[in-house]
Amino acid sequence: MSVDKQVRVGTKLLGAGLPPLVQTMYDNPMPRDKEQLDELIRRIGSLNAMGCDLIRFSYPSFEDRESFSYICSHSPIPVVADIHFDYKLALDAIQAGAHKIRINPGNIGARWKVDEVLAAAKDHNVAIRIGLNSGSLPKGDDPPAKLMSDTALTYLNWFEQASFTNSVVSLKASDENLTIEANRLFASQSGYPLHLGVTEAGSVVSAVVRSTWALGQLLSEGIGSTLRISITGEIETEVQAGVELLRTLGLRRKGIRIVSCPRCGRASFDSQGFLASVEQDLLGINKDLTVAIMGCQVNGPGEAKSADIAITGIGNAIFLYVKGELVRKVSVDEAKSALLEAIEDAE
Ligand code: SF4
Repeated sequence: MSVDKQVRVGTKLLGAGLPPLVQTMYDNPMPRDKEQLDELIRRIGSLNAMGCDLIRFSYPSFEDRESFSYICSHSPIPVVADIHFDYKLALDAIQAGAHKIRINPGNIGARWKVDEVLAAAKDHNVAIRIGLNSGSLPKGDDPPAKLMSDTALTYLNWFEQASFTNSVVSLKASDENLTIEANRLFASQSGYPLHLGVTEAGSVVSAVVRSTWALGQLLSEGIGSTLRISITGEIETEVQAGVELLRTLGLRRKGIRIVSCPRCGRASFDSQGFLASVEQDLLGINKDLTVAIMGCQVNGPGEAKSADIAITGIGNAIFLYVKGELVRKVSVDEAKSALLEAIEDAE
Protein backbone atom coordinates (compact mmCIF):
# COMPACT_ATOMS: atom_id res chain seq x y z
CA MET A 1 0.00 0.00 0.00
CA SER A 2 1.14 3.57 -0.48
CA VAL A 3 2.08 5.94 2.32
CA ASP A 4 -1.13 7.49 3.62
CA LYS A 5 0.18 9.42 6.63
CA GLN A 6 2.05 12.67 7.00
CA VAL A 7 4.32 13.27 9.97
CA ARG A 8 5.25 16.68 11.38
CA VAL A 9 8.89 17.08 12.44
CA GLY A 10 9.40 20.66 13.62
CA THR A 11 9.11 22.87 10.54
CA LYS A 12 9.11 19.91 8.13
CA LEU A 13 6.28 17.70 7.00
CA LEU A 14 7.11 14.30 5.54
CA GLY A 15 5.25 11.28 4.21
CA ALA A 16 2.22 10.93 1.94
CA GLY A 17 2.54 12.85 -1.30
CA LEU A 18 5.71 14.69 -0.25
CA PRO A 19 9.20 14.40 -1.76
CA PRO A 20 11.74 12.44 0.34
CA LEU A 21 13.93 14.37 2.79
CA VAL A 22 17.66 13.99 3.37
CA GLN A 23 18.95 13.34 6.86
CA THR A 24 22.38 13.00 8.43
CA MET A 25 23.73 12.27 11.89
CA TYR A 26 26.21 14.46 13.74
CA ASP A 27 29.55 12.69 13.88
CA ASN A 28 30.80 13.69 17.36
CA PRO A 29 29.61 14.04 20.94
CA MET A 30 27.71 17.29 21.40
CA PRO A 31 30.04 20.16 22.28
CA ARG A 32 29.54 21.81 25.67
CA ASP A 33 31.31 25.07 24.97
CA LYS A 34 29.29 28.03 23.57
CA GLU A 35 31.84 28.90 20.88
CA GLN A 36 31.90 25.31 19.64
CA LEU A 37 28.11 25.16 19.73
CA ASP A 38 27.90 28.27 17.56
CA GLU A 39 30.42 26.72 15.17
CA LEU A 40 28.20 23.63 15.05
CA ILE A 41 25.13 25.74 14.26
CA ARG A 42 27.08 27.33 11.37
CA ARG A 43 27.99 23.84 10.14
CA ILE A 44 24.32 22.81 10.26
CA GLY A 45 23.57 25.96 8.23
CA SER A 46 26.05 24.81 5.56
CA LEU A 47 24.54 21.31 5.58
CA ASN A 48 21.11 22.88 5.15
CA ALA A 49 22.38 24.92 2.18
CA MET A 50 23.66 21.66 0.65
CA GLY A 51 20.17 20.15 0.91
CA CYS A 52 20.10 18.50 4.35
CA ASP A 53 16.60 18.56 5.88
CA LEU A 54 17.04 16.85 9.26
CA ILE A 55 19.93 16.17 11.61
CA ARG A 56 20.13 13.54 14.34
CA PHE A 57 22.22 13.67 17.49
CA SER A 58 23.16 10.86 19.82
CA TYR A 59 21.71 11.67 23.27
CA PRO A 60 23.54 9.34 25.64
CA SER A 61 23.55 11.40 28.84
CA PHE A 62 21.51 13.87 30.88
CA GLU A 63 24.61 16.07 30.81
CA ASP A 64 23.91 16.70 27.11
CA ARG A 65 20.66 18.48 27.88
CA GLU A 66 21.93 22.05 27.87
CA SER A 67 23.84 21.67 24.61
CA PHE A 68 20.99 19.79 22.99
CA SER A 69 18.49 22.44 24.00
CA TYR A 70 20.73 25.14 22.50
CA ILE A 71 21.06 23.18 19.26
CA CYS A 72 17.29 22.61 19.01
CA SER A 73 16.52 26.28 19.47
CA HIS A 74 19.22 27.57 17.07
CA SER A 75 19.33 24.91 14.33
CA PRO A 76 17.89 25.97 10.96
CA ILE A 77 16.59 22.41 10.42
CA PRO A 78 14.68 20.06 12.74
CA VAL A 79 16.73 18.10 15.25
CA VAL A 80 16.34 14.43 16.17
CA ALA A 81 17.55 12.80 19.40
CA ASP A 82 18.83 9.23 19.21
CA ILE A 83 17.90 7.42 22.42
CA HIS A 84 18.85 3.98 23.67
CA PHE A 85 17.88 1.98 26.76
CA ASP A 86 16.76 4.71 29.18
CA TYR A 87 13.24 6.08 28.68
CA LYS A 88 14.09 9.00 30.99
CA LEU A 89 16.61 10.18 28.41
CA ALA A 90 13.79 10.22 25.86
CA LEU A 91 11.65 12.32 28.22
CA ASP A 92 14.59 14.62 28.83
CA ALA A 93 15.27 15.11 25.09
CA ILE A 94 11.59 15.86 24.44
CA GLN A 95 11.54 18.46 27.21
CA ALA A 96 14.81 19.93 25.90
CA GLY A 97 13.19 20.69 22.54
CA ALA A 98 13.71 17.66 20.27
CA HIS A 99 11.57 17.77 17.15
CA LYS A 100 11.72 14.01 16.82
CA ILE A 101 13.22 11.16 18.77
CA ARG A 102 14.46 7.85 17.48
CA ILE A 103 13.93 4.85 19.74
CA ASN A 104 13.84 1.08 19.51
CA PRO A 105 10.93 0.28 21.85
CA GLY A 106 12.46 -3.16 22.35
CA ASN A 107 15.46 -1.73 24.20
CA ILE A 108 13.49 0.84 26.22
CA GLY A 109 12.15 -1.90 28.51
CA ALA A 110 8.66 -2.27 30.01
CA ARG A 111 5.73 -1.10 27.96
CA TRP A 112 4.66 1.48 30.56
CA LYS A 113 7.99 3.24 29.96
CA VAL A 114 7.26 3.41 26.22
CA ASP A 115 3.77 4.71 27.07
CA GLU A 116 5.30 7.53 29.15
CA VAL A 117 7.49 8.50 26.20
CA LEU A 118 4.47 8.46 23.87
CA ALA A 119 2.47 10.67 26.24
CA ALA A 120 5.31 13.21 26.47
CA ALA A 121 5.88 13.17 22.69
CA LYS A 122 2.19 13.77 22.14
CA ASP A 123 2.10 16.66 24.63
CA HIS A 124 5.07 18.33 22.90
CA ASN A 125 4.09 17.53 19.26
CA VAL A 126 7.26 15.50 18.84
CA ALA A 127 7.52 12.78 16.18
CA ILE A 128 8.98 9.35 16.95
CA ARG A 129 10.96 7.09 14.67
CA ILE A 130 10.78 3.42 15.52
CA GLY A 131 14.32 2.48 14.53
CA LEU A 132 14.95 -1.23 14.06
CA ASN A 133 18.27 -2.68 12.97
CA SER A 134 18.65 -6.29 11.92
CA GLY A 135 21.20 -6.74 14.72
CA SER A 136 18.81 -5.77 17.53
CA LEU A 137 15.55 -7.63 16.97
CA PRO A 138 13.51 -9.79 19.32
CA LYS A 139 14.23 -13.51 18.95
CA GLY A 140 12.05 -15.39 16.46
CA ASP A 141 12.07 -18.15 13.85
CA ASP A 142 10.77 -16.03 10.98
CA PRO A 143 13.09 -14.92 8.16
CA PRO A 144 14.86 -11.66 9.13
CA ALA A 145 12.91 -9.39 6.75
CA LYS A 146 9.58 -10.65 8.10
CA LEU A 147 10.81 -10.41 11.68
CA MET A 148 11.88 -6.78 11.11
CA SER A 149 8.62 -5.78 9.44
CA ASP A 150 6.37 -7.64 11.92
CA THR A 151 8.26 -6.16 14.90
CA ALA A 152 7.72 -2.65 13.55
CA LEU A 153 4.01 -3.37 13.00
CA THR A 154 3.71 -4.65 16.58
CA TYR A 155 5.28 -1.45 17.96
CA LEU A 156 3.06 0.72 15.74
CA ASN A 157 0.10 -1.13 17.17
CA TRP A 158 1.29 -0.25 20.71
CA PHE A 159 1.66 3.35 19.62
CA GLU A 160 -1.83 3.47 18.12
CA GLN A 161 -3.29 1.97 21.29
CA ALA A 162 -1.81 5.02 23.05
CA SER A 163 -3.40 7.22 20.32
CA PHE A 164 0.03 8.15 18.97
CA THR A 165 0.34 8.27 15.16
CA ASN A 166 3.11 10.82 14.50
CA SER A 167 5.43 7.90 13.70
CA VAL A 168 8.10 7.00 11.19
CA VAL A 169 9.70 3.55 10.88
CA SER A 170 13.19 2.52 9.82
CA LEU A 171 14.27 -1.04 9.04
CA LYS A 172 18.02 -1.03 8.51
CA ALA A 173 20.56 -3.76 7.90
CA SER A 174 24.15 -3.77 6.77
CA ASP A 175 23.00 -6.31 4.15
CA GLU A 176 21.52 -4.17 1.38
CA ASN A 177 19.30 -6.96 0.03
CA LEU A 178 17.79 -7.55 3.46
CA THR A 179 17.20 -3.80 3.71
CA ILE A 180 15.30 -3.88 0.41
CA GLU A 181 13.26 -6.95 1.36
CA ALA A 182 12.29 -5.71 4.83
CA ASN A 183 11.25 -2.26 3.59
CA ARG A 184 9.25 -3.67 0.67
CA LEU A 185 7.44 -6.04 3.01
CA PHE A 186 6.62 -3.30 5.52
CA ALA A 187 5.47 -0.91 2.77
CA SER A 188 3.11 -3.58 1.44
CA GLN A 189 1.37 -3.71 4.83
CA SER A 190 1.50 -0.21 6.31
CA GLY A 191 0.86 3.38 5.29
CA TYR A 192 3.36 4.83 7.80
CA PRO A 193 6.36 6.69 6.30
CA LEU A 194 9.71 4.92 6.15
CA HIS A 195 13.15 6.38 6.79
CA LEU A 196 15.61 4.48 4.58
CA GLY A 197 19.23 3.56 5.08
CA VAL A 198 21.79 0.79 4.74
CA THR A 199 23.55 0.79 8.07
CA GLU A 200 27.29 0.39 8.68
CA ALA A 201 27.84 0.54 4.92
CA GLY A 202 31.55 1.37 5.04
CA SER A 203 33.65 4.16 3.61
CA VAL A 204 32.64 6.44 0.75
CA VAL A 205 32.77 4.11 -2.26
CA SER A 206 31.17 1.04 -0.67
CA ALA A 207 28.60 3.09 1.27
CA VAL A 208 27.48 5.09 -1.76
CA VAL A 209 27.34 2.07 -4.08
CA ARG A 210 25.48 -0.15 -1.60
CA SER A 211 23.10 2.57 -0.46
CA THR A 212 22.37 3.69 -4.02
CA TRP A 213 21.69 0.09 -5.06
CA ALA A 214 19.21 -0.45 -2.22
CA LEU A 215 17.66 2.99 -1.74
CA GLY A 216 17.49 3.67 -5.48
CA GLN A 217 15.27 0.63 -5.98
CA LEU A 218 13.04 1.44 -3.03
CA LEU A 219 12.66 5.12 -3.90
CA SER A 220 11.88 4.21 -7.53
CA GLU A 221 9.01 2.09 -6.19
CA GLY A 222 7.69 5.03 -4.15
CA ILE A 223 9.03 3.64 -0.87
CA GLY A 224 10.85 6.02 1.47
CA SER A 225 10.00 9.42 2.95
CA THR A 226 13.42 10.24 4.40
CA LEU A 227 16.86 8.76 3.83
CA ARG A 228 20.39 8.73 5.10
CA ILE A 229 23.41 7.53 3.15
CA SER A 230 25.46 6.26 6.12
CA ILE A 231 29.15 6.74 5.41
CA THR A 232 32.20 6.12 7.55
CA GLY A 233 33.38 9.61 6.67
CA GLU A 234 32.27 13.21 6.52
CA ILE A 235 28.61 14.03 7.12
CA GLU A 236 28.83 16.61 4.32
CA THR A 237 29.54 13.69 1.97
CA GLU A 238 26.46 11.87 3.30
CA VAL A 239 24.31 14.87 2.47
CA GLN A 240 25.91 15.34 -0.95
CA ALA A 241 25.27 11.66 -1.77
CA GLY A 242 21.67 11.77 -0.52
CA VAL A 243 20.84 14.89 -2.52
CA GLU A 244 22.54 13.51 -5.63
CA LEU A 245 20.56 10.27 -5.36
CA LEU A 246 17.26 12.16 -5.14
CA ARG A 247 18.23 14.43 -8.02
CA THR A 248 19.24 11.45 -10.17
CA LEU A 249 15.88 9.80 -9.49
CA GLY A 250 14.05 13.03 -10.36
CA LEU A 251 12.78 13.36 -6.78
CA ARG A 252 14.53 16.68 -6.07
CA ARG A 253 15.18 19.59 -8.38
CA LYS A 254 17.03 22.20 -6.34
CA GLY A 255 20.83 22.11 -6.25
CA ILE A 256 23.63 22.27 -8.79
CA ARG A 257 24.08 19.24 -11.06
CA ILE A 258 27.77 19.09 -11.88
CA VAL A 259 29.12 17.77 -15.19
CA SER A 260 32.91 17.51 -15.27
CA CYS A 261 35.68 15.71 -17.09
CA PRO A 262 37.19 12.53 -15.68
CA ARG A 263 40.98 12.37 -15.47
CA CYS A 264 42.00 12.58 -19.12
CA GLY A 265 45.26 12.76 -21.03
CA ARG A 266 43.83 15.29 -23.47
CA ALA A 267 42.96 17.91 -20.86
CA SER A 268 44.74 21.17 -21.46
CA PHE A 269 43.19 22.76 -18.35
CA ASP A 270 43.23 21.30 -14.82
CA SER A 271 39.47 20.76 -14.55
CA GLN A 272 39.88 18.45 -11.52
CA GLY A 273 41.83 21.07 -9.59
CA PHE A 274 39.35 23.73 -10.60
CA LEU A 275 36.37 21.62 -9.51
CA ALA A 276 38.04 20.93 -6.15
CA SER A 277 38.46 24.68 -5.64
CA VAL A 278 34.83 25.50 -6.40
CA GLU A 279 32.86 22.37 -5.40
CA GLN A 280 31.94 23.47 -1.86
CA ASP A 281 30.58 26.74 -3.23
CA LEU A 282 28.52 24.87 -5.83
CA LEU A 283 27.10 22.40 -3.29
CA GLY A 284 25.77 25.28 -1.20
CA ILE A 285 23.77 26.87 -4.04
CA ASN A 286 20.07 26.06 -4.01
CA LYS A 287 19.29 26.63 -7.71
CA ASP A 288 18.19 24.07 -10.27
CA LEU A 289 21.13 24.37 -12.69
CA THR A 290 23.52 22.14 -14.62
CA VAL A 291 27.09 23.41 -14.46
CA ALA A 292 29.75 21.89 -16.73
CA ILE A 293 33.49 22.15 -16.08
CA MET A 294 35.36 20.88 -19.11
CA GLY A 295 39.05 20.40 -19.75
CA CYS A 296 39.64 20.73 -23.51
CA GLN A 297 38.18 21.49 -26.92
CA VAL A 298 37.20 17.86 -27.73
CA ASN A 299 33.90 17.63 -25.79
CA GLY A 300 34.14 20.88 -23.86
CA PRO A 301 32.27 23.24 -26.20
CA GLY A 302 29.63 20.56 -26.89
CA GLU A 303 28.93 19.87 -23.20
CA ALA A 304 29.04 23.59 -22.52
CA LYS A 305 26.23 24.13 -25.01
CA SER A 306 23.91 21.68 -23.26
CA ALA A 307 24.60 22.98 -19.71
CA ASP A 308 22.99 26.03 -18.12
CA ILE A 309 26.42 27.44 -17.32
CA ALA A 310 29.80 26.06 -18.32
CA ILE A 311 33.44 26.76 -18.50
CA THR A 312 35.80 25.13 -20.94
CA GLY A 313 39.51 25.55 -20.45
CA ILE A 314 41.73 25.53 -23.47
CA GLY A 315 45.30 26.12 -22.34
CA ASN A 316 45.33 29.31 -20.30
CA ALA A 317 42.11 30.62 -21.82
CA ILE A 318 38.82 29.88 -20.05
CA PHE A 319 35.60 30.23 -22.02
CA LEU A 320 32.39 30.91 -20.09
CA TYR A 321 29.08 29.80 -21.60
CA VAL A 322 25.59 30.72 -20.41
CA LYS A 323 22.65 28.78 -21.89
CA GLY A 324 24.95 27.48 -24.60
CA GLU A 325 26.19 30.92 -25.68
CA LEU A 326 29.82 31.93 -25.31
CA VAL A 327 29.70 35.08 -23.16
CA ARG A 328 33.22 35.67 -21.83
CA LYS A 329 36.83 34.68 -22.14
CA VAL A 330 38.78 34.96 -18.87
CA SER A 331 42.12 33.92 -17.41
CA VAL A 332 42.53 30.85 -15.16
CA ASP A 333 42.77 33.16 -12.12
CA GLU A 334 39.47 34.85 -12.96
CA ALA A 335 37.60 31.63 -13.76
CA LYS A 336 36.20 30.87 -10.32
CA SER A 337 34.71 34.29 -9.70
CA ALA A 338 33.40 34.47 -13.29
CA LEU A 339 31.65 31.13 -12.85
CA LEU A 340 30.13 32.05 -9.47
CA GLU A 341 28.96 35.44 -10.79
CA ALA A 342 27.24 33.75 -13.73
CA ILE A 343 25.51 31.33 -11.35
CA GLU A 344 24.43 34.18 -9.11
CA ASP A 345 22.92 36.01 -12.11
CA ALA A 346 21.11 32.89 -13.37
CA GLU A 347 17.35 32.65 -12.81
FE1 SF4 B 1 39.09 14.66 -21.93
FE2 SF4 B 1 38.58 16.90 -23.28
FE3 SF4 B 1 36.68 15.00 -23.07
FE4 SF4 B 1 37.34 16.45 -20.95
S1 SF4 B 1 36.41 17.23 -22.85
S2 SF4 B 1 37.09 14.23 -21.02
S3 SF4 B 1 39.53 16.75 -21.27
S4 SF4 B 1 38.65 14.82 -24.12
